[in-house]
Amino acid sequence: MTDCIFCKIAAKEIPAEVVLETDRALAFRDTNPQAPTHVLVIPKAHHADAAALAQADAGLADEVLKTAHAVAVGDDVAGAGYRIVFNTGPAAGQTVFHVHAHVLGGRELTWPPG
Ligand code: AMP
Repeated sequence: MTDCIFCKIAAKEIPAEVVLETDRALAFRDTNPQAPTHVLVIPKAHHADAAALAQADAGLADEVLKTAHAVAVGDDVAGAGYRIVFNTGPAAGQTVFHVHAHVLGGRELTWPPG
């Protein structure tokens, strides 16, 4: 997708602080972090949201989730606990329509999130 900022990050056309990369997924730090660990995990292929990701190629959603967990392990927050969030649609706060998992950790995370 030509105008998608996360497609451009996946293509290395714009910079990002990449923390993990697999064949089909990329993890990079959010530029407006809401917690000490705030990493976004995307499939490199463009899918608009979590619903589209769930319908995508076999194993892609799985790869995004496994990468999210690997990020938490790498940032040493997996033991204490962390949160994976897919904002899905405008009412949920989705602003970038290339699906991304937020991986949040490193502080107490309140529930419900508000
Ligand atoms: P959402 O509101 O769920 O769509 O989340 C979009 C997230 O992308 C926000 O937390 C932004 O801070 C983050 N973001 C936007 N542009 C960039 C960028 N170029 N690099 C890293 N994170 C970004």
